[in-house]
Amino acid sequence: MFDPIEKLKEHLRHASVSTDSAFKEGMNGSRDFLAGLFGEMGLNVEIVDTDLHPIVLAKREGDARWPHVIIYGHYDVQPADPIELWDSDPFEPVERDGRLYGRGAADNKGPQMAHIAAVAQALEENPSLPLRITFLIEGEEEIGSPSLLPFLEARKAELSEADLVLLSDTLSPSADQLVVTVGLRGIVALEVEFEGPKSDLHSGLHGGAVYNPLQALFEVCGSLHDSENRVTVPGFYDDVAQVEDWEREELAALGADEDSYRDFLGIDALHPHPDYNPFEAIRYLPTLEFNGMGGGYQGEGSKTIVPSKAMAKLTCRLVGNQDPFKVGALVKEAILARVPAGIKATVEMGHEGSPYLVVPPGRPNTPEDQPRRLAKAFEATERAIGDIFDKPPLFLREGGSIPIIADMKKTLGLDSVMVGLFLPEDNLHAPNESLNLSVIKKGIQVSKKVILALAEG
Ligand SMILES: [Zn+2]
Repeated sequence: MFDPIEKLKEHLRHASVSTDSAFKEGMNGSRDFLAGLFGEMGLNVEIVDTDLHPIVLAKREGDARWPHVIIYGHYDVQPADPIELWDSDPFEPVERDGRLYGRGAADNKGPQMAHIAAVAQALEENPSLPLRITFLIEGEEEIGSPSLLPFLEARKAELSEADLVLLSDTLSPSADQLVVTVGLRGIVALEVEFEGPKSDLHSGLHGGAVYNPLQALFEVCGSLHDSENRVTVPGFYDDVAQVEDWEREELAALGADEDSYRDFLGIDALHPHPDYNPFEAIRYLPTLEFNGMGGGYQGEGSKTIVPSKAMAKLTCRLVGNQDPFKVGALVKEAILARVPAGIKATVEMGHEGSPYLVVPPGRPNTPEDQPRRLAKAFEATERAIGDIFDKPPLFLREGGSIPIIADMKKTLGLDSVMVGLFLPEDNLHAPNESLNLSVIKKGIQVSKKVILALAEG
C-alpha cells in the first residue's frame, strides 16, 4: 500500500492549471499520475478525450448485482498567482505544523486522495470486495466543467446504473465539526441594458426633457427588492423548497454568531429577509444581486451629460426546486414591465446552473422511495464521521453552487454524498493554500468505512 501523503505530494508537483495553456505539461503530468496510480490499484483506466482537458475514468468492474459507487474529483487547480504572496513554491509541497502547503492541496487533490487511498486500502485488504467503483476525475472543474455534461450524456447508459456519487469538494467549518452538504444553490445570470436618447446629450440643452437612462435603471433595479430585502419579482419564491425544522436545528448547532459575522464583514448591520436569520438566508433563500452597474461619464472631474445608455449585470442564486430558466424569465419580465416610456430595454440571460437538494434518510421529509443504497451511504457516513472525528456531522445546505452535482442528478438520476474535507483556513483559490493533514488522514478512515459499508450490499 502506498503512503497517501507522499502520493499526494507527488500529485501536487504537477502544476495542473486548467485555465492557462502554458500549464499543458502539468495537466498531462497530473493525468498520467492518476492513470498510473489507478493502474497500480488494478483498476481499468480510460482517458476520455474532451475538447480541452481529458477526463480520467478508472473502473473496478464486477458482478452487476454489486453496489456501484461513482467517486468524483477534479485534477485541475486554480492558478497560483500572485506567486510572490506564497511562503513556499506552490508546486513544491512542504509540510509545516501539521499542514501540507501547495496549490491544489485542499482543492481538490487532497480530499480526492482520501477516497483513492481508502479504496486502495479496502481492495488490498479484500481483493474480492463486492463493490463496483468508478473514479470520475475531471480536468475542467476550475473553468466551469464545460465537458462534463456532454460526457455524462454520452455515457449515460453505463453511469446511470450506479447507486450514488461520493465526493469531497465542499467545506466543513472546523477540524472538529464535519459537514455533509445536502444542498447547493443554483444560479442564473442576466445582463440589462437601458437606452435613452441615441447619443449622450448636453444636460443644459436637454436635461429635464428626457428620461435619464441611468435614473430609469436605478429606479427599476431599486424596485426589485422591498425595504425588508424580499425580492418583488412576481412568482420569484413560488418554487422555493420548504425549510424543515431539522434543518434549522442542525444549522443552529453550528453555533454561528451574527455579531462576529457582522464584524468579519466590516458592516454595522445585516439585512436578511425578515423570516430568516442571515445564516438561514444564505442557505435557504434565492437572491437577486446586482454585480455591476454602469453608464455615463466615469472619468476625472465632471461632465454635464444625460447619458445615452446604462447597464447592469445581475445574478440570482437559486435554491431547491427552482428552475434557472423559469426564474431568469420572471426577472426579465419584471424588469421589462417596469421600464418607463422613453427608454428601450434589453435583458439577456447568461450562464445558468440548477440548484441541488437531497434529504438524508430518517428525516420527516425523506422521500419514501429513497434508494436503499443511497440511504446506506448517508448512514455509514454519519456513523463513520461520528467514530473517527468523535462528533457526528451536521447535514447542511450550502450557499454556493456546484452545478455538476445537479447535472449528475438530472442526467444520471444520481444523488451525491458530499463530505466536507477542507476548512475555511485552507485558503482555497488563494496564496498559501494548504491542507490539514490530520483531517485528511481521518478522512481516509471515514471513506474506507463508507466503502466497506456500501460493499455489504
Ligand atoms: Zn474543487
